[in-house]
Amino acid sequence: MKCRVIGMWGGFPKENGPCSGYLIEQDEFKVLLDCGSGVLTNVQKYVDLNNINHVLLSHYHYDHFSDIGAYLFSRLVNTKIGNTDEALHVYGPDDEEMKRRVEEIEYCEFSTIDKNSELHIGPFRFTFMRNNHPIETYSIKIESGHKKIVYTSDTSYTSKLIEFAADADLLIAESSLYDGMDGSASGHMTSSEAGMLAYQSKAKKVILTHLPHYGELEELLASALNEGNHAIELARPGVLIEL
Ligand SMILES: [Zn+2]
Repeated sequence: MKCRVIGMWGGFPKENGPCSGYLIEQDEFKVLLDCGSGVLTNVQKYVDLNNINHVLLSHYHYDHFSDIGAYLFSRLVNTKIGNTDEALHVYGPDDEEMKRRVEEIEYCEFSTIDKNSELHIGPFRFTFMRNNHPIETYSIKIESGHKKIVYTSDTSYTSKLIEFAADADLLIAESSLYDGMDGSASGHMTSSEAGMLAYQSKAKKVILTHLPHYGELEELLASALNEGNHAIELARPGVLIEL
């Protein structure tokens, strides 16, 4: 299993720096996890849009889903000009408007996820945990063979995450805030909370993501490392992690 970080900025993109998007691949099979601002442009550096037929959205904040409309339109055009005849499947929390927008486009299908969902897409098994965030949001676990990736999406710290993320080969942990800040109201983790999760879940490799646009990111990384898991790095656009 492979994970390509397409983008990792929280809230809004930088120039050439997209928001959340992670391409999960095994053999020739691909699933895009989240599709925030800038992801649609940048994912095409690595793969033709017509070769991704499954997009999973953790929640409907712009930095995680704003490019899905353009993705749907690309599928509409590409089916009309004969570049593909395969459906684009979009998965996300229950939302009538999202379902309507997806399914008004020929060749596009929408499926709802919730905390009890178990999705089998190609070689992958997806399960979910409800997050602490202002809107319905899920942490996502992806398993294939003996490998496991856990993506926290956006959430404040909760000890339930430790069990959900236990023994992940790759933990993609949000770290929106610096040590000493309080993420409980906004529904985000500090770097030390992300580090604590990395340590307690015994993750084999960790990337800190959903990074803030201010402060020194090296300090963010240092405070996460200080919690005891030394396999933590900052997410960077384009980086490929092979498990
Ligand atoms: Zn976000």
